[in-house]
Amino acid sequence: MRIHSFIVCLVTVIAFGGDAAAAAQTNISGSTMGTTYSVMLAALPVGIDQDRLHGELDEILDRVDAQMSTYRDDSEVSRFNASSSTAWFPVSAATREVVAEARHVGLLSHGAFDLTVVPLVELWGIGRRIAPTPLPSDEAIRRAAVPVGFSKVETRKGSPAIRKQRSDMRIDLSAIAKGFAVDRLATHLESRGIEDYLVEIGGELRVGGTSPAGGAWRVAIERPSGEPLTAQTVVALTSGAVATSGDYRAYFEHGGRRYSHIIDPRTGRPVAHELVSVTVVDRSAMRADAYATALLVLGPRAGLVLAAQQGLAALFVSRERDGFIQVSTPQFEQHVIH
Ligand code: ADP
Ligand code: MG
Repeated sequence: MRIHSFIVCLVTVIAFGGDAAAAAQTNISGSTMGTTYSVMLAALPVGIDQDRLHGELDEILDRVDAQMSTYRDDSEVSRFNASSSTAWFPVSAATREVVAEARHVGLLSHGAFDLTVVPLVELWGIGRRIAPTPLPSDEAIRRAAVPVGFSKVETRKGSPAIRKQRSDMRIDLSAIAKGFAVDRLATHLESRGIEDYLVEIGGELRVGGTSPAGGAWRVAIERPSGEPLTAQTVVALTSGAVATSGDYRAYFEHGGRRYSHIIDPRTGRPVAHELVSVTVVDRSAMRADAYATALLVLGPRAGLVLAAQQGLAALFVSRERDGFIQVSTPQFEQHVIH
């Protein structure tokens, strides 16, 4: 059994390496949520201090981490998971909002996106990046899947709270929280009068206004490198988010098959089809992040049907015997620079 774990920067902001980065007056970066973040601005408005802004952004990210991280035991999500109570569990408005959106995307994707997949994620060693040997039996998958189901967690808005329908269920917001945090940073920049910006966390990004090089921000979606066909799609945006979900980052191979880090909740197994990645463009980074994962689970055909139904701007890249093919919705095409 071979374990593959490598990073291919599938979404590259051309502006990063090009004129825009050089022209940018302000680059702020750091680490958060087990990955890195960066913010690029053409200019700082008068009266805004860069160090202070950096501090404000870090504070926002720390707060999201304290709410939604599954890597720290004291986060709201971890404490909710550790509790076996089926009573309402008070959480921040932010956590309630993300759980509600995760449920909503779960519903619209017919369960492809599922915030309760935790036992299956653990069964398959996802996150530890260790391939299980031997592979989980059908019986083990069936048992792990018992507490799984997006509708088994409820949300309450008034006095924000979430509730388990089963005491043994747990939630994981990994596939949506980065997008939420991107939105939070973007909103903060706008509230400080900053209109031209790029915010990125672990490859999920959102832009506003114009790039430091002038004109719309250009975001390149590259095919995995190392292949002869590495043509890229470039989208131009003056506002909106771009999120990509794919199995190019971490997977393991067993018996000649490739296993993804995304679980198909309907089978209880890692996604195993020819889809390499899905990219979604949306006003909200949270929605883009969640839908990219949902469409990846659904695969090229059912994914395209859902994207069409929901009017999503989505790009599907599939692995074919002699290269890659890509299919996109008309909404996505509107952003593409040809
Ligand atoms: P990607 O960037 O490829 O979408 P993410 O980091 O956004 O990957 O999400 C992957 C994580 O989401 C997994 O590590 C796991 O914790 C969780 N996850 C796996 N399968 C699902 C699913 N079907 N629905 C929601 N979350 C999932
Ligand atoms: Mg995602």
